[in-house]
Amino acid sequence: MLVIGRDNGLIKSVNRRVCRDLGLPAEEIAGQNYRKIFRPEFISVYERLAAGCEDGQEHTVLYYWAEMALWEQISARVIQLDSRPHTLMSVTQITESARSKYRAESVAYFDNLLKLPNGRKLEEDINELASVETVTLIYLVLERFEDINNLYGWDNGDRLLKQVRDWLLTSETRRAQLYRVDNGFAVLGRHATLEEAEDRSREILERFSRPWSLPAGANRLSLYCTIKLGIVSGQYVRNEMRNLLLRTIRTAKKSAAGYSVYDEQADREAKRSIRCRDSLITCIFNGMQGFEVRYQPIVELETGRWRALEALCRWTMPDGTEIEPSYFIGLAEHLALIERLDSWVRATAMRQCVALGLDRRDFVLNVNFSPTQSLDDLFIAGLLKSLGETGFPPDKLNLEITESARMNFDEKTITGLRRLKENGIILTLDDFGTGYSSFANLTRVPADSLKTEKLFLDDLVRDRHGQYFMRTLADMAHYLGLKMIAEGVETREQLEVLRGFQVDYAQGYLFSRPLSYEELRQESRRF
Ligand code: C2E
Ligand code: CA
Repeated sequence: MLVIGRDNGLIKSVNRRVCRDLGLPAEEIAGQNYRKIFRPEFISVYERLAAGCEDGQEHTVLYYWAEMALWEQISARVIQLDSRPHTLMSVTQITESARSKYRAESVAYFDNLLKLPNGRKLEEDINELASVETVTLIYLVLERFEDINNLYGWDNGDRLLKQVRDWLLTSETRRAQLYRVDNGFAVLGRHATLEEAEDRSREILERFSRPWSLPAGANRLSLYCTIKLGIVSGQYVRNEMRNLLLRTIRTAKKSAAGYSVYDEQADREAKRSIRCRDSLITCIFNGMQGFEVRYQPIVELETGRWRALEALCRWTMPDGTEIEPSYFIGLAEHLALIERLDSWVRATAMRQCVALGLDRRDFVLNVNFSPTQSLDDLFIAGLLKSLGETGFPPDKLNLEITESARMNFDEKTITGLRRLKENGIILTLDDFGTGYSSFANLTRVPADSLKTEKLFLDDLVRDRHGQYFMRTLADMAHYLGLKMIAEGVETREQLEVLRGFQVDYAQGYLFSRPLSYEELRQESRRF
């Protein structure tokens, strides 16, 4: 038997049995805060029960103490002592039938490793609350946890989880319940404000800025572990709690404080991006539903004639929403669906240009090659096959390639590029001068032209440095026998400056926006 003050957490009285289990005399236990005296596992059991009995009923759990190989039934209810609320707990050993009931319950509601209630229990506990106005939920997920398992072994991963659990239980000052939810931990505060949850989040983040020390033979293993942390409070707690927690922490890295607080606007966006991703996968596999190729002309500055078209992909979701190309291209790259998408864009563009008779004119078709793909034999074979099937001449196809962290021009890539050139295909270094592009590559890569990004044109008219840069790039390109294409030309002034630098080609809204197939048909005589 054990009596603990509900408002101050102090142990009011204990019986002999508890003293014996704890190995301490009653004088050393009474008057202490239970968090100082009990083991984390028992703290967890106590707090779960204490929170449960707020409804005025008696609550009981069955518990297995692994170290003592002992099953116990632990009951709790609220009593008044000296006009203050206390929790009265009684502990008794249990019978075989109660044990099997416990087993069934523990499988469904408890995390076996950490002996904590699980996400299902959290959902039920939240559903049982009369009101969620004053409720807060903190959710934290250990990042890199798989790495820790892989590098240090599952045993150490488990030890780390237990240490985190123990710290979360013993450092909690308000009465909050800890749960193990999916791959993380959730802290349910039943009478807590958002400010309190934010304070606690800062404390948790602070603890994770220091190492965790695990026993490793005679030594100790010191590990740093980073977390993602999100808070959901008030009425939102009821709202598909587990998905909400995940969506909340997805934005965690974005807040400077290191944690994120659920807000409806951010959630709507997170939901939108999930829906968009799901729809992109379905549409790509479902015959490229909603996709279209647009064509933006590239103009020869000396003559003012249209000389090439860049094929640019467009996608409209089934609900009619047009999605920004850089967004869905990035998603497709992330989902490893870009090869499928790009080969469709190439084949469609080649087929449509052949249908308009452009393959027989003085004309080149530029297509983008995503830097996340690899320029291997499979890619080259696919491209040649597509050229063969559409009847498009290889020497009128220009592949625009951007260097990136994933696509550095190593020997394998250069070999691939040479093979493309042997087949007559033209090569352009895209977005040159931004990101990863390196001048060393200009002499190594068998390119025919380089294309500069719109960024350089923005200050071209006003900024002297911008002009020096563009002029130097143009001179260098010409010196190396490359043509230079300026992208994103919007004004006459920009055009005049580029003409002065002998830039060969330009592309931009000044000449034309990307055109649909129908619009291109009407303009096709320009080639
Ligand atoms: P990018 O390769 O640099 O393509 C040029 C982008 O600049 C296009 O944007 C084009 O519409 C835009 N642009 C052209 N002239 C102007 C101008 O004067 N002003 C402004 N503000 N913008 C101009 P878009 O179509 O939104 O494409 C964005 C990026 O998405 C492309 O950048 C390219 O990296 C990628 N992308 C588009 N279609 C495909 C595709 O089929 N495959 C792959 N792998 N990437 C694609
Ligand atoms: Ca491009």
